[in-house]
Amino acid sequence: MKTATKNKTSAAFNIDSFEERLAVKNRFDGNLLLGAKDFHAKTNRSGEGKPSSGALIREHAKIVEDTGLDRYRRIEGHWEAVDACPVCDSAQRTHFLNRYALDIYRCTKCSHRYLNPRVKFDSAERLYMDDKTAADIYSQPLQIEIDEIKYQYGIDLIDQLNPPARDKILDLGCGAGVFLKMAQRGGWQQCVGVDINERYSDMYNASVGIQFINSSFERLEPGKLGKDYDAISMWSVLEHLYDKHAILDTLIAMLKPGGLLFILVTNVESLATRLMREMSPTFAWKHVSHFSPKSLTTLMERHGLKKIFHETVITEIDNIKSYMSGEYPYHGYGDPEELFEFITPDYIHRHMLGSRQIAIFRKP
Ligand SMILES: [Zn+2]
Repeated sequence: MKTATKNKTSAAFNIDSFEERLAVKNRFDGNLLLGAKDFHAKTNRSGEGKPSSGALIREHAKIVEDTGLDRYRRIEGHWEAVDACPVCDSAQRTHFLNRYALDIYRCTKCSHRYLNPRVKFDSAERLYMDDKTAADIYSQPLQIEIDEIKYQYGIDLIDQLNPPARDKILDLGCGAGVFLKMAQRGGWQQCVGVDINERYSDMYNASVGIQFINSSFERLEPGKLGKDYDAISMWSVLEHLYDKHAILDTLIAMLKPGGLLFILVTNVESLATRLMREMSPTFAWKHVSHFSPKSLTTLMERHGLKKIFHETVITEIDNIKSYMSGEYPYHGYGDPEELFEFITPDYIHRHMLGSRQIAIFRKP
């Protein structure tokens, strides 16, 4: 029998004990008891017009009208439907998010995310050929300096994974050619780069021993590019490709047996993107594909390649902490109160949560 008493010890916990208070608090925390999904269903929070639906709730809808219109609208004539997953061909998908009139879907089979509808190839090609924004960034001395460190890391990874030789290397989407210059410095004999943007070609006239070919990736001419490559690299290219299966077939045919395919690509399952979703600039018109570690592996295994290395790079740790602080993620607010010190580069990369993936595959 309970008896009323003013004695503190009759409470189920001791107010001075953090652990004891926590044990009680956890018992009235709906998400902890049942999980959010169950909890919301059993408490009338989910369903149409309910607070967890993500849409207008009953009372809000009396003072605000849903017009079905968005501020940003796709301009007709530039867009084409994507009927199936560009990696595994499954038509099963769910809507993932919308950003500035771009709709991103998630393949329920291989977890790939992709743009649907996407910009028509002809429209995209015109935009790329005159992409001043990217050319202006990647031809700046400071950017080149940072890129040299990144590209040297790539060269060192390739070297340690034993390519058949260090004779021929191809960089698809070579831009200003910084990676190829590093490769040449590292002892690679023949360095070939392909890029659609003519703005870069001037930068190659000065570099002896590096061949620049001005071409779109979709219109590659294997006759011009040659074969028997020991390594082929694609830095931030794969997410842009329309006909990735045909391009991969062409590239793989150009590799020697045992040759390496080096990929750096965005990671749609990075911690930054998982948190910031539609605030993330990775959801851009250029990115027709958003790879998860699983969908990247699925794609390459489908083309008969064997994965020999996979990791993430680039933490975006300050963007993450700014966002967790309740601020806009990209204005550099960071974590001045040091509340989020538990998020470390070690934690991020150990769990494949970095914002770029590096994966290296070998041709059997
Ligand atoms: Zn898929």
